[in-house]
Amino acid sequence: MDVIVKKSRIHGKGVFTTRDFEKGEIVLKWDTSSELTKEQVKKLAKKDRDFVTYLNGKYILMKSPEKYVNHSCEANTTAKNQCDIARRYIKKSEEITSDYSEESVPSLNMKCNCGSKSCRGVINLIDK
Ligand SMILES: [Zn+2]
Repeated sequence: MDVIVKKSRIHGKGVFTTRDFEKGEIVLKWDTSSELTKEQVKKLAKKDRDFVTYLNGKYILMKSPEKYVNHSCEANTTAKNQCDIARRYIKKSEEITSDYSEESVPSLNMKCNCGSKSCRGVINLIDK
């Protein structure tokens, strides 16, 4: 494992690197084996629904550690082909962040706490 989950400054738990990553490197590969139907998603508790992502027409329940990747308006990774790719050089023990508004998270509406200069304050994305 090149990452660990621990308490985050941004929100709850976060994912942190245990080594340096070059720009363009795959930091995390998602486990997308937990598929859900729309009905199953509706039945989930609100806190679990935050871990559902919409990929290629399917609802996927994200697993650890990828489900703990926090949002940042100045994210250091970008989601591509079910991986989180380094957007820039990432130092060892930096928190990995991704821009949720670039991803298809169903019914997302949360306050942002990332603290970056370009923070949008709120992340809003409903059934894109
Ligand atoms: Zn922000």
